[in-house]
Amino acid sequence: MTPTRRPAMDSYGPWSRRFLMGLIAANVIGAALMLLSCVGLSDQARLNQQVPWLSLAVIAILLASTADVGWLIGGRRNLLIRRIDLLAPFVDAATPEAPAPWPSKEVVVVAGRPVLHRPSCLLVAGKITEPINVDEANAKPSRRCRVCEP
Ligand SMILES: [Zn+2]
Repeated sequence: MTPTRRPAMDSYGPWSRRFLMGLIAANVIGAALMLLSCVGLSDQARLNQQVPWLSLAVIAILLASTADVGWLIGGRRNLLIRRIDLLAPFVDAATPEAPAPWPSKEVVVVAGRPVLHRPSCLLVAGKITEPINVDEANAKPSRRCRVCEP
C-alpha cells in the first residue's frame, strides 16, 4: 500500500482551503436566499403569492444542507485515507502475505460493527472482538476493512 492518495492535511484539518471556501460560499448564498425569501414573504398575504418565496426558502435550505453534508462526508473520507496511509507501514509489516480470497479464513468483528478485520489488524487492537467464520461472514451484510484487507 503506497501513500499516493493522501489528501491535503493543513491547518483546516481534513479539508482543503478550496473545500472550506466552497462550504462557506454555499452557506452564505443559502443564508442570503433565506433572507430574501423572508423579506419576500413578509408582504404577501395570499398563499399563491407565498409559494414562490417558500420554494426559494426550500432551495436555500437544500443548498446549505447539501454543502454541509458534503463537508462532513468529504472530511470523513479524507480522515479514512489519512488513517490508512499512517497505518500502512505497520499493517504491511504485520501481514506480509498477500490478501487471501474473500473472506479469508480468520476474520474478526468488533461487537456491533459490520467491518471484517484480520485478527492482527491495528484497528481492532485493544478492542473486544468476536471471531467469525466464513459462512457467517457470507450470510451477514459486512464489508472488508480497508486497512488489513481480510
Ligand atoms: Zn482491519
